[in-house]
Amino acid sequence: MNLRGFHGQVPASTCPGCKGLATGATSADANRRAPKAGDCTVCIECGQISQFSHELELVALSDAELLKLPAAVRQQLRAMRRAVRDRVERLS
Ligand SMILES: [Zn+2]
Repeated sequence: MNLRGFHGQVPASTCPGCKGLATGATSADANRRAPKAGDCTVCIECGQISQFSHELELVALSDAELLKLPAAVRQQLRAMRRAVRDRVERLS
């Protein structure tokens, strides 16, 4: 992960996976802009893949919606989800 990208607060939203409160985001690349509607994200607590709505609320991304994304994006999201879930498993 390139930490030169965006790292900051986003409007508070609830993760559709774990119901945790999300108030921040970090980009997975050097993109310095804040998240916008349609961007995908992975919950650092549970690995849920979501998409930011127009109000920047987190909406779960279905498998069908995930399949519509470019392969490189899909692979990156799945790798991030796997890393989070592996971490959660190690800590439990
Ligand atoms: Zn979550």
